[in-house]
Amino acid sequence: MPTSRMLVKEIVYIPLGSTLRTLAYERELLKAASLYSLNGRVLNVSVPLNEESYNPERRQFNALILLDQVSRMKKGFDLCMGVTASDIYVPQMNFVFGIADVSRGCAVLSIFRLTFGRYEESQDIFRERVLKEAAHELGHLLGLSHCKDRNCLMSFSNSVLEVDTKKPILCERCLNVLKMLSE
Ligand SMILES: [Zn+2]
Ligand SMILES: [Zn+2]
Repeated sequence: MPTSRMLVKEIVYIPLGSTLRTLAYERELLKAASLYSLNGRVLNVSVPLNEESYNPERRQFNALILLDQVSRMKKGFDLCMGVTASDIYVPQMNFVFGIADVSRGCAVLSIFRLTFGRYEESQDIFRERVLKEAAHELGHLLGLSHCKDRNCLMSFSNSVLEVDTKKPILCERCLNVLKMLSE
């Protein structure tokens, strides 16, 4: 007989590159997991970014290659997210905050542009952004698509301004979709 414990999935965050800079946002990463009633865990390991992912012309790391790297480390974990403080991109875009592959249960999140700003910007806003974008990628991993509601966690953000606009919660429609997906 299945126990309720089996129903609780775990999201494992793997620092890619600087472990310290990822661990600095541990609380937000765990909070993102709890929004979906997932167990969250941040591995205290140091995993260098795959060298092949670095594009010297763009001075950025290719998120698709990092996604492959994360999927190779996934092993028995339910869901896995690589978290890096480096700038990442996908070929058709200048940059991305993160990407997710629902079929492999893997995602990559970059805190580079979320935690970059003027000195007078408070740490609180950085923390809030990391929480929102981690929760956004988790939403994808659980099967959610982008949402047109600019206030919803699942709306696509192309700038920190757009990240700051949305609330750290799902809209009614996304909540219902999530409920349907988990039934
Ligand atoms: Zn997205
Ligand atoms: Zn929504």
